[in-house]
This record gives sequence, structure tokens and C-alpha cells, in this order.
Amino acid sequence: CGIVGVLGNHEVAPILVEALKRLEYRGYDSAGIATVNHGTLDRRRAVGKLVNLSDLLVHEPLAGKAGIGHTRWATHGAPSVANAHPHQAGPVAVVHNGIIENFRELRAELAEAGIAFVTETDTETVALMAQMYMDRGADPVSAANQTLDRLHGAFALAFLFQGQDDLIIAARKGSPLAIGHGDGEMFVGSDAIALAPLTDRITYLEEGDRAVVTRTSLEIHDANGTLANRAVKTIQIDA
Ligand code: GLU
Repeated sequence: CGIVGVLGNHEVAPILVEALKRLEYRGYDSAGIATVNHGTLDRRRAVGKLVNLSDLLVHEPLAGKAGIGHTRWATHGAPSVANAHPHQAGPVAVVHNGIIENFRELRAELAEAGIAFVTETDTETVALMAQMYMDRGADPVSAANQTLDRLHGAFALAFLFQGQDDLIIAARKGSPLAIGHGDGEMFVGSDAIALAPLTDRITYLEEGDRAVVTRTSLEIHDANGTLANRAVKTIQIDA
């Protein structure tokens, strides 16, 4: 139900949890974060309130200066740790708001290719497809693009990759997504409120946009695949 992402200069786990707290007003049943730490992709997830995720992180910390986070409002699959986001398939972790309408067809296609599922969610399909394209030799950006080309429905998505400490791919189709500009840092959020303590400089993705985000760059392609020039707005929200 809420998405955040940080390419930062500090440990991101506490920053991600704080940003998720600012999305609590949307409601949620579980939460999780994933980070890349010197190339290693890992995640932590917990059912219930964000405090359960924070407690888990005390006992099982997650290091890294790049990460994504999620609060889930289950649409497909019960609220459980296994169904909580981020969903990880090998070198790819994904957080998702909304619904992948054609996930049953995609699941059938993946099953035919011998790819196994561990959750009941529509979202896992996205991670598994990206992994499949990477297994076939695609780089992260191309794997995400090939995956996004296959998805129907209304969604916001953020991808994080093993071995990539400076990359988040974000896509918007039917669910809002904002990119925040920091000082040598970059942020992703379902809305600007989530990012308010981090930055007041926001680029709103438009319908169909895909963004390749690094700490020092933001490249957006529109729904037609054309390089898009989106404004950076200075907004006023009480942090
Ligand atoms: N459809 C996804 C799920 O059930 C995402 C739900 C959400 O927007 O939180 O896991």
C-alpha cells in the first residue's frame, strides 16, 4: 500500500522505516524492507505494525546504504511474512502497490518454464519474471523493462538489484509515485509526504513513466519509451 526507496549516504534501514511510518495513514497489514550492502541483497519482513519490523531489525539488523520498503494491504494472498514485500527472486527485489491483473497468465507461463512460486501474491510474478530475464542475460534495466512490458493492471513498482548499490528502478501505472532529490542522495515514495523529512524537491512520475534512479541521476522514459523531461518541484510539507 506504500512504497519507499532510498539511495543514501547513511545506513538506510532506519530511514526506510521512518518513511514507511509516514505512510501508515494509508493502512497496512505487514511491512518489509530490502537493502543492498556492498552488493549483497537481503530483506526483512514482519506482519502487523511497523514496530514489529523495527523490533526484528534490532535482532536481525540490515546494513546498506541503498534500499526499498513497503507497507502491504493484501489483495492476493493472506497477510503473512511469506506474502509480505519486498518479494525477492535471486538477484531482484520488488515492492509493489496495486494489482497485476494478468498475474495468473504470467504465473502459468513461469510454471511452464519450470519456475517455482513460494507465495500467493500477484507481486512475486514480477520478481520471478525479472529474474528470468536476467538469467537469460539481461542487465537490470533491460530486465525491468522487459518485465514491465508484460504487466497489465494498476501499479507502482520499485526494483532493487543484487550487486547494484546505486540503482533503483521505479515505474508508475495507475498508482502514484514520487522521486525525491537529495544532496547526492535520491528517494522514491508513494507520495511526497513520505519523503518530507528527507527532501522538499520532488519529481512526480506521470502515468506510464519508468525511472532509472541513481544517487546522482534520474532518467525517466514516458509511456511511449521516449526520454521525458519532468520538472523538479519545491514543495512545502511540514516534516
Ligand atoms: N497486490 C499486492 C499484494 O497483495 C500489493 C498490495 C498493496 O498495494 O499493498 O501483495
